Amino acid sequence: MSLSTKLLPSLVEAIANTIESNAEEVTALDQAIGDGDHVFNLQRGIDALVQQKDDLAQLDWVSVLQKIGMTLMSTMGGASGSLFGTLFVSMSKAARDQELNLQSFANIFSQGVESVKQRGKADVGEKTMLDVLVPVASYLQDSAAASVELPDVLENIKSVAVSGVESTRDMVATKGRASYLGERTKGHIDAGAKTTQLMICAIADVLQANLPQ
Ligand code: ADP
Ligand code: MG
Repeated sequence: MSLSTKLLPSLVEAIANTIESNAEEVTALDQAIGDGDHVFNLQRGIDALVQQKDDLAQLDWVSVLQKIGMTLMSTMGGASGSLFGTLFVSMSKAARDQELNLQSFANIFSQGVESVKQRGKADVGEKTMLDVLVPVASYLQDSAAASVELPDVLENIKSVAVSGVESTRDMVATKGRASYLGERTKGHIDAGAKTTQLMICAIADVLQANLPQ
């Protein structure tokens, strides 16, 4: 699997577009059980990445992941800024000296998700972005172990991410701002899980459209 950093401008644009198109819906989710600023926080980070997209395309993956992580940490506010930042910085560390293939990417992504868990002292089942990140990491590990073909991985990963978001609906939030509402968070989808799913689906769409023939 060779994946060029030349795809970065398209990836960043696709992420910016999906967050923009779903901004109202996600803001409503964060208003229901949080403080309503999640999309605003995220868009600050994405806007900074849009500015950098052509520079990113000149770098190798280790540097790209590091730069994205640092940019998100320094431009985004909120709990999600340090968590998304941690995800990318940790993936950058794990990507050092690695040849890119499905198994190495599964390991790199899993390492990033592990760091998010540690940083937020949270795990799956607490109604956060981890309810999307953890199942996606497990799915990547399982498909690498079973040698699933890349086109199938890209298609299936979208359903895994969507199921992850849906799973947050009936959970009681025990981390972050939403945890102050306790039982009253039941019945609402978590905003950070939703944006994580939207971004994963946008990335999968771009990669599907750029698969080698
Ligand atoms: P804030 O909660 O500080 O206003 P945002 O609104 O930007 O920050 O982000 C909220 C999202 O961050 C939540 O929807 C949830 O997905 C995620 N989140 C909050 N706390 C944690 C945590 N400890 N671990 C993982 N994700 C978290
Ligand atoms: Mg918020």
